[in-house]
Parts: sequence; structure tokens; C-alpha cells
Amino acid sequence: MLVDSHAHLNMYEPGELPGVLERAVLAGVGGIVVPATGPDDLEAVTALVRDHLELLAGAVGVHPHEASSLNGEVKERLERLLGSDGIVAIGEIGLDYHYMSSPREDQIKALEWQLDLAMESGLPVILHNRESWEDMESILASRAGALHGVCHSFSEGEAATRSVVEMGLYVGISGMVTFRRADNVREVVRTAGMDRILVETDSPYLAPVPHRGRRNEPAWVRHVAEAVALELELGVREVVVRATASARRLFRLPEGWGAV
Ligand SMILES: [Zn+2]
Repeated sequence: MLVDSHAHLNMYEPGELPGVLERAVLAGVGGIVVPATGPDDLEAVTALVRDHLELLAGAVGVHPHEASSLNGEVKERLERLLGSDGIVAIGEIGLDYHYMSSPREDQIKALEWQLDLAMESGLPVILHNRESWEDMESILASRAGALHGVCHSFSEGEAATRSVVEMGLYVGISGMVTFRRADNVREVVRTAGMDRILVETDSPYLAPVPHRGRRNEPAWVRHVAEAVALELELGVREVVVRATASARRLFRLPEGWGAV
């Protein structure tokens, strides 16, 4: 069985979702972690997860694009939703200096508040980072040891990966690992090693080869596992078993969860 550790299932049309879930299960995916992105989907993700507790787990958080919207009211909603059934993490949160949809200071403030909330509540975090690693690393380093989580769809290369592993965090490997030009992602795989890797699709984005350019879905997480296996010279089965065990450990998912 496979776990897709990052899929935005709330971004499909309601009519598409049953097919997406069915194809995932048929492909051997027994668990999917669904991160929220901001005030507009916190409740939707929580409700979606609650309706599919056997297959889905969720994270609530405010994405860096939406960082400026993290006001007192949103903070209260976030804190309240942390106690909901199937909510296992805070995410996705982080920094994104590529789009800079929220000012840098707002992004840092929102990230730090949510990291502190994660440490208080004992939940792991799902981290997004783009062109912002320097700030991200120093913010994480000041909390290293007290923080659990995954740097999702990580592509920062060797030194950054070593730092992630030293801080006790996981790297999330996405379908980018199958892209011909993505040597940086394969370098992350080799540096992190199988003990520190989660696999993910980041659906509906980043469809892996041979589905590139299409709308991604959790069924295709298998292609990610295969590419990781190739890179580490391991059997696909071993990659699947170990990535699933890591996801269960990080998100404290029950034993049976993730078994189709
Ligand atoms: Zn995402």
C-alpha cells in the first residue's frame, strides 16, 4: 500500500472526486494527506477528511500566498479545527518569495506563529518553500529538535537537504523527480536517503512522467516511488513500505490506516 503525503483533493470539482479516489484505491493508494491552503478552504478540507476517515487525513494551515490573511479570526478558526477528526498536521505553511503574493514580513510572521502553534499542540508541519530557503532554514533552525514535519516537494539540493535531515525533518518527493531536467530533486533523494523520504503527488499539480501536463492525481504517486527506487537502487516494494511507514510515523496515523 502507498501513501500520498500531499494532495489538494479539495481543488477538484466535486463531480471528479469519486473517480479520483476510486482510481487511487485501485492503484494501491491506501492513504492520502490533504493540506489546506488558507481561510477559504480550512473548513472544506476538514469536512472532506471527516467524510473519508478510512482513506484521508488532513492538515489545516495558511499558505504563504495567503499569509496576509492570517488575522485574529482566522487564527481562532485554525486553533478550533486542530481538534477535528482526521486533522493530523498544520499545513501547508511556509515561505514563497517567487510569487511574493503576501509581503515577506507577513509570510515570516504567519510561518512563525503557525510553527509555534504546532509545537504547542504537538502536531507536525507541512512546509512549502520557494526561493526562500535562507530565511526558512534560520527560522526552522531556531526551533530544531522541537519541531516535526516535512519539507514538501523539496528541490533545494544537497546542502539544504543535509540541513533538513539534521533538523530531524523529512523531505517530500514529488513527481518532479521523474522530470528529465530535475537533477536537483534526484540529488535530494540521494542525500536524504530512504529513511527520510515521503512520497507525494502535490495533486492536481506536478503530474509525473508519463502523465506530464495532465491534471495530477494520487493514483500516480506510484511513478514517484518508482523513480525514487531507481535513484536509490532499491526495489519499488521496499520504497513503498518504508515511505508509508515514515508517513505513518510522522503523522501518527493508526496502524491500519494506509492499508487498502
Ligand atoms: Zn501543496
